[in-house]
Amino acid sequence: MQDIVFATNNAHKLTEIRRIVGDKFRILSLKEIGCEEDIPETATTLEGNALMKARYVKEHYGYDCFADDTGLMVDALDGAPGIYSARYAGPGHDSAANMKLLLRNLEGVTERSARFITVIALILNGKEMTFEGRVEGEILTAPRGTDGFGYDPVFKPVESTLAFAEMSADDKNAISHRGRATARLLDYLSKL
Ligand code: IMP
Repeated sequence: MQDIVFATNNAHKLTEIRRIVGDKFRILSLKEIGCEEDIPETATTLEGNALMKARYVKEHYGYDCFADDTGLMVDALDGAPGIYSARYAGPGHDSAANMKLLLRNLEGVTERSARFITVIALILNGKEMTFEGRVEGEILTAPRGTDGFGYDPVFKPVESTLAFAEMSADDKNAISHRGRATARLLDYLSKL
């Protein structure tokens, strides 16, 4: 079995990927390799940030690694919140405040198209690669549903009449940005 670090401590993301990846790879979290510090994410693109995180783990800890970065791009806001999605309303990573600010900035705006994009950067066996997943949709005028996290209550994908927060985890994963990027990563890993 080959060790690969997933540069996250998000238990939900780790469980999901371990369930799918099978026994060819052992997926380690940041905590499991003793990486407790905040990894810098100062690039100006999702791809740049994902690569920055994966390279940091490779350089400082010696492990092959993959890292993801996600943003919500709203057309009427020129692509904001984008790479700043987690801290749109401030450094506190407060989802409720982020959503409130987004709805306020879109007050009276009828053109509400948006997309989630995830980029996963992989460093494996001396090679760097990236995998992208995206889902098109629109920003609702008020939150709907209680499941999920982040901006899920205000994002409705084009494939559904439901907001992400009204969908089951499996239904959301089947069409989500992260689900699609992860599928591409797993497709690559399964062919090695
Ligand atoms: P991260 O790169 O996965 O940490 O995502 C950055 C930010 O984007 C998160 O803090 C959330 O606010 C938002 N986000 C990422 N994925 C989702 C999602 O699936 N639903 C809703 N919001 C998300």
